[in-house]
Amino acid sequence: MNNTMLLQRLHKLQETFTEKETELTALDREIGDGDHGVNMKRGFNAVKEKVTESSTQEILKQTGMALMGSIGGASGPLYGFSFVKMSEAAKDEIDVENLRELLEIFAETVSSKGKVSGGEKTMYDVISRAKEVLGEDGALKLEDLQKLADDTKDMIATKGRAAYFKEKSKGTVDPGAQSAVYLLSAFTLEEEA
Ligand code: ADP
Ligand code: MG
Ligand code: MG
Repeated sequence: MNNTMLLQRLHKLQETFTEKETELTALDREIGDGDHGVNMKRGFNAVKEKVTESSTQEILKQTGMALMGSIGGASGPLYGFSFVKMSEAAKDEIDVENLRELLEIFAETVSSKGKVSGGEKTMYDVISRAKEVLGEDGALKLEDLQKLADDTKDMIATKGRAAYFKEKSKGTVDPGAQSAVYLLSAFTLEEEA
């Protein structure tokens, strides 16, 4: 995936998060404060507006800055800083090997910044396991990623706002896990996505 395609995919997430606003808001209304839909939409509106054609590294960095600067909630710095960190390791042309490396950095950044590990019902549960569903050809399929998000349904939240719901957080897919599905699917190396 070269810089032009990456930019196209990131810009397209603006449409995706506009479409998915209601869904993400509904999830966050169950176990949070009901703003994850609007947060992600606002974040990718900023990406569409501010990130323009440049190198792969610069596109990822600018995306991170746009997300950090526009998302009010916990997800802003977690996603934003992760993009900045990924920009430092990105190759001009992202191939499978590089994508594997970027996923590793994404997971490490969320883990250290969010002080989170697996099974705490967050975006980390999808991001850290994305490598398990990454195809040898670099495919990251929506339906495979969705299964990872669905696995958060039975978990009890111990991080973020959802942790206040304790046992009651069970039964709902984590909103950040769901947004991570859409975000990660933009990195698939399949041509048609
Ligand atoms: P806020 O909770 O501040 O309103 P958002 O609604 O935008 O922010 O994002 C909530 C999502 O952020 C959660 O569903 C969860 O996936 C993620 N999240 C919150 N805190 C953490 C954390 N410490 N580590 C990893 N992810 C987190
Ligand atoms: Mg929220
Ligand atoms: Mg909030």
